[in-house]
Amino acid sequence: MPITSPQRIAAVVPPSATLAANERVQARLDAGVGVLHLAFGEAGLPVLPSVAARLVAAAGHNGYGTVAGSPAVRAAAAGYFERRGVPTTADQVVMAPGSKALLFGLLSVLPGDVVLPRPCWVSYAAQAALAGKRVIDVPIPADAGGVPDPGALRETLARARVAGSRPGILVLTLPDNPTGTLASRSLVAEVCEIATEHGLMIVSDEIYRDLAHEPNAVCSPAEVAPDRVFVTNGLSKSMALGGWRIGFARLADGPLGTDAGRALTGLASEVWSSLAAPMQSAAVYVLDEPDDVREHVARSRRLHRLVTTAAHREVVAAGAECRAPAGGFYLYPDLEPMRPALSTLGVETGAQLADLLLERCNVAVLAGDVFGDEPGALRFRLATSLLHGSTDDERWEALAADEPTSLPRIRSALDRLGQALRTLGHGA
Ligand code: PLP
Repeated sequence: MPITSPQRIAAVVPPSATLAANERVQARLDAGVGVLHLAFGEAGLPVLPSVAARLVAAAGHNGYGTVAGSPAVRAAAAGYFERRGVPTTADQVVMAPGSKALLFGLLSVLPGDVVLPRPCWVSYAAQAALAGKRVIDVPIPADAGGVPDPGALRETLARARVAGSRPGILVLTLPDNPTGTLASRSLVAEVCEIATEHGLMIVSDEIYRDLAHEPNAVCSPAEVAPDRVFVTNGLSKSMALGGWRIGFARLADGPLGTDAGRALTGLASEVWSSLAAPMQSAAVYVLDEPDDVREHVARSRRLHRLVTTAAHREVVAAGAECRAPAGGFYLYPDLEPMRPALSTLGVETGAQLADLLLERCNVAVLAGDVFGDEPGALRFRLATSLLHGSTDDERWEALAADEPTSLPRIRSALDRLGQALRTLGHGA
């Protein structure tokens, strides 16, 4: 087989489990079945009109532009980081069509194998494999996901070296997908210290940063170890602009950052050229954070927090274990306490559990093994963001509501979730 062949690519990147799940849900919806769709990680909120106006006004910007982004958008992104306690110059910023492209670029150009806290977001391992890197898994601690357990990280790094791996990049997610949690400042500091001892670069995925339920609780690894941390972020979640594909990265301070930046923009120049010019214009507006953008993000954060916290109450009341949500719009319940009852229903794995939730209860979630969790664990990820409504009017209503969880469509969805878990917990 040639080194790169369709078979090899298909082997390292099988068709996405997320898309497969979505197709199954869609088939049911098309057949008129009311599915509670908790499987998709889209922000589920409308576009702020002032941002849409910026995009429309920039429609005539049809030049290619510079690879890393215009001086204006890079300066705006530098200001964004600066206001979050990470002094940044405009030449440390690279814009791209989505942070996913930047993550792939960084995993490709930074040297060494990729260390992933597990469970973690689906694309890191697939991107590492595409970049020809080995993946080294480390379990997350009990208190939060998105970072590895420090003790397990030390052991794993020692073992990996003995086994001939070259750990070079540690990926962190703050706040985290799939667990919906946020690692504490002390945990981040400890993990950065281990990374420094072992000469690891850190890629800190902060796409949910502005949706941390307590924004001041976020500690970016770039505050702790700015000369070895590359931050990726974007407007897909906080501004619900996933389809606009606006991502930005902050390169590490010093020569390592400069070298990696050169390699990253080299890769970008051969693959995506630049972020679309009208999107750069919209990004300048958002990243300068005028009052209406700040208010919109604050309102979105509040809505995600209230709905996810209410869903957490349902999950825990039904008998599951689940870390309390601290950012974004995800929960990662563990139905281990219900194992005996689930066993009577023929459920022994996370995938079987997700299947049963869909087949019997019409509740769509993603099994933990999709995120690299142990297949036998009875864990899954649920996203609450599609509960806000199915039209822009409903979504604006949810954003404006004092008590969004009292809106009938959101309340009944939460009740349905609790009911489904209680039913399974009784082995029924
Ligand atoms: N990182 C995480 C943890 C995500 O959940 C997502 C989107 O689901 C991304 C990155 C990709 O974001 P973008 O739309 O900027 O490519």
